[in-house]
Amino acid sequence: MSRELEREVAVRAVLKACRLCRNVQSEHMSRQKVNKTDGSPVTVADFGGQALVSHHLSMAFPADPLMGEESSDQLLRRENGALKESVIQHVRRIVPELDEEEILAAIDRGNASGGPSGRFWVLDPVDGTKGFLRGAQYAVALALVEDGEVTLGVLGCPNLPLVLDNPGGHPGQGCLFFAAKGEGAFMRPLDEEREQRITVSLEERPSGALFAESFESEHSSHKDSARLAKMLGVTREPLRMDGQGKYGLVARGEATIYLRVPVGKEYAENIWDHAAGAVIVEEAGGKVTDLDGLRLDFSRGKKLEKNRGILASNGRLHDTVLEALEGLPGQKE
Ligand code: AMP
Ligand code: MG
Repeated sequence: MSRELEREVAVRAVLKACRLCRNVQSEHMSRQKVNKTDGSPVTVADFGGQALVSHHLSMAFPADPLMGEESSDQLLRRENGALKESVIQHVRRIVPELDEEEILAAIDRGNASGGPSGRFWVLDPVDGTKGFLRGAQYAVALALVEDGEVTLGVLGCPNLPLVLDNPGGHPGQGCLFFAAKGEGAFMRPLDEEREQRITVSLEERPSGALFAESFESEHSSHKDSARLAKMLGVTREPLRMDGQGKYGLVARGEATIYLRVPVGKEYAENIWDHAAGAVIVEEAGGKVTDLDGLRLDFSRGKKLEKNRGILASNGRLHDTVLEALEGLPGQKE
């Protein structure tokens, strides 16, 4: 089934949210030392991005539910009046005709809880919050899930260059990845409609692998991935960055492995942190499972309840990494 309309709408929605994020991030970076009175910039970008994506999707697909992280409750509290004003002002810079009521309603459309049947959209308006606050990498991540399968994914990465030479981020550049099931994976500059097909790395030697992982060691154990890399004979330092741009690096062949090793036993991943990235890597010819080799199960509501950690790879090295993981202390109960 062609998802041309869905793809076009999703790309436009993500581009609007990326513009808002850039505006908020540049404002934040230019007054970092000033005491903030209007709530944290990431909150402005989260609410604003969700409003824009939700509104844009609702125009094209009014019946489609959306699962987003935010609801307007927090904005409506008396003490958050300045935050609300800031969200409204930023949204209106991009879509001037929206009034306050419409903006709040758009945010609250994002209340779907997912599940195994029907179709719904899933959004992380600012994935990689900590990177966003550091002025580094983050992503706007939007995916379509149909009967428990991710069928479309779009990742807007406003600070990620088309070719990686500095994972720390180059403000002013930006890259957008997208894929629809069965139709391949693509990237384009954020600001130009110039798309190119992307494919994963052909690397077959474990020692030639290049790992991508979270910048934050509380999100994925750096110690375990370093041990694993050593077991495989990998010599290159891992690429560390925030947000789902890591999936993009694997999809376009710059990294060979994106590993996410849980730090605590209890953490279940949010589906909005992986849906878009996973389909992009698969459509680029790679493979995505959890650390036990199980397919990611997006049919369980908001969390990947049945999965433990994440392994996204170029495919060729997937089983080798899974086998090596079995030898990693603390991985098996
Ligand atoms: P990353 O930038 O890849 O580290 O991922 C950012 C995402 O990590 C956020 O959107 C959070 O939902 C998620 N996250 C928060 N706490 C944890 C945790 N303890 N383990 C794994 N992921 C987490
Ligand atoms: Mg996230």
